[in-house]
Amino acid sequence: MYVDVIPLPYAKDALEPVMKQETVEFHYEKHHKGYMAKLKSLIAGKPEEGKSLVELMRTSSGAVFNNAAQVWNHDFFWESMKPNGGGAPPAGDVGDLIAGLGGWEKFRADFIAAGVARFGSGYAWLVLDRGKGKIIDTPNAENPLTTGATPLLTCDVWEHAYYLDHRNNRQAFLEVFLDRLVSWDFVARNARAASQAD
Ligand code: FE
Repeated sequence: MYVDVIPLPYAKDALEPVMKQETVEFHYEKHHKGYMAKLKSLIAGKPEEGKSLVELMRTSSGAVFNNAAQVWNHDFFWESMKPNGGGAPPAGDVGDLIAGLGGWEKFRADFIAAGVARFGSGYAWLVLDRGKGKIIDTPNAENPLTTGATPLLTCDVWEHAYYLDHRNNRQAFLEVFLDRLVSWDFVARNARAASQAD
């Protein structure tokens, strides 16, 4: 059961100058909360009303799936960033995970390539798939939970995520996302939770 979108884990201007306050404001208040409002209107008074977001994603399709997944994806996206984040991961479990993907420079290039290649709207992800790190991209509202992988990190590559900061230059957004915004703490928490669940 859920009540609302997550509170932002930092102030709306905390990612300045890398991500403008205006970007966070519109993305969080209009897009993210908009998906939640739409979801609530779709399931009001129906049996789905008692389900969690993850249950809704696993059992629904069409508009209910799209709006539930978009709420979940954005909750996850905000947590994937932090002020003064990014750059090569710290040594330890996350450092080892990235080393397993060829090291920071290769991971960086491959993650950017996945996000740039995603045609139209969607997400680039770092996931654990059967215990191994993997970079994937998904269209529209899709996310890795529905295919059994465990999300560790995501970058929203819908145009609304970067247009105010970078206009049409999605690659520039992916670069600053990786170099200055990624929360490796969040990745570490997700990886730890996944290993404890095994
Ligand atoms: Fe978005």
